[in-house]
Amino acid sequence: MNQRVLLVKRPVGWVDPSCFALQNGDEPQCGAGDVLLQSIYLSTDPYLRGRMNEGASYAPGFELGHPIVSRVVARVVQSRCEGFAEGDLVWGFLEWAERSVVAGGAGLHRIDPALGRASHFLSVLGMPGLTAWVGAIELGRPAPGDTVYVSSAAGAVGQLAGQFAKRAGARVVGSAGDPRKVAWLREQAGFDAAFNYRIVDLDDALREHCPAGIDVYFDNVGGRTLEAALRHARVGARFPVCGMISAYNATHDEGIRGLQAVLTRRIAMTGFIIYDHVHKLPAYQARVAPWLRRGELVFHEDLVTGIENAPAALIGMMRGEAIGKRLVQVAAE
Ligand code: NDP
Repeated sequence: MNQRVLLVKRPVGWVDPSCFALQNGDEPQCGAGDVLLQSIYLSTDPYLRGRMNEGASYAPGFELGHPIVSRVVARVVQSRCEGFAEGDLVWGFLEWAERSVVAGGAGLHRIDPALGRASHFLSVLGMPGLTAWVGAIELGRPAPGDTVYVSSAAGAVGQLAGQFAKRAGARVVGSAGDPRKVAWLREQAGFDAAFNYRIVDLDDALREHCPAGIDVYFDNVGGRTLEAALRHARVGARFPVCGMISAYNATHDEGIRGLQAVLTRRIAMTGFIIYDHVHKLPAYQARVAPWLRRGELVFHEDLVTGIENAPAALIGMMRGEAIGKRLVQVAAE
């Protein structure tokens, strides 16, 4: 049997387990020109929440009764397609299924084991890493001595955004919603300061940890955190807007107060979507792989085992359970 995770109900507000169903499907067959894949790691991502809605935002919504689709690392089990051989490791946008078939190998990217482990292609060598790079370095343009503030700093993107800014010579401050995460940021990920946004007054925390003001705010969460960052921005600050997770489960738009600071402090506030930057992935991987080999980047992957646990893994990631990149391991590497 081939277990798959289907979307069966559109969430209103927070996603709950009743939105998903586990289905035992038929074994997929490898026809002429096809590649048959065994999934190994499924990526859980905040943007999947948006794709569960009826209307499309920047990517089409999932269809009810169909599997969730995200980036997946898989092994080729059988190939009737030129360019792919049994045992190859690949990644691509695949269904949340134990096994799947891809016609003509379309959209599959080969994994080069010389660069890193297979799971890395969904984390530090994949989309979260490139997102951190584009936001923190290309849009943030941190200069030595700048203060860079990263929200959701212990997450898949945040952990790397902070470390890339640190490598550029900045002083890096992170916030996260759990004392374990705050300790990890300070003690292992090399952040200069970190605080738990759930238990502090944000203005007090930013006054304490960013006494000269914020030069770069890497926004993963939006909402009241963005409002606070606007109040503490320096003139000429850069605000790469990566995500606004505080609003993804909201049933109404609460708005952002204090936007006048964008004008008065000449803030460059730039939204970006990583799909527009995928052509940069090979160069990014070539840059970062040596740092990985030398142990110069600290990053955490949080593995949940079993495809039947994928819905809970996704819900838990949105609620802040995981340090670093949460993956669902479906089969052994
Ligand atoms: P994370 O690994 O950071 O996981 C999400 C985290 O968000 C949770 O662990 C939780 O951590 C935090 N969170 C949840 N609700 C809130 C809230 N109300 N206020 C503050 N924090 C909250 O996910 P990713 O690293 O994959 O993604 C981070 C952000 O980047 C998301 O907004 C995502 O949509 C965005 N993104 C954007 C991309 C783009 O192309 N622009 C590409 C990839 C990601 P905590 O315990 O700290 O609350």
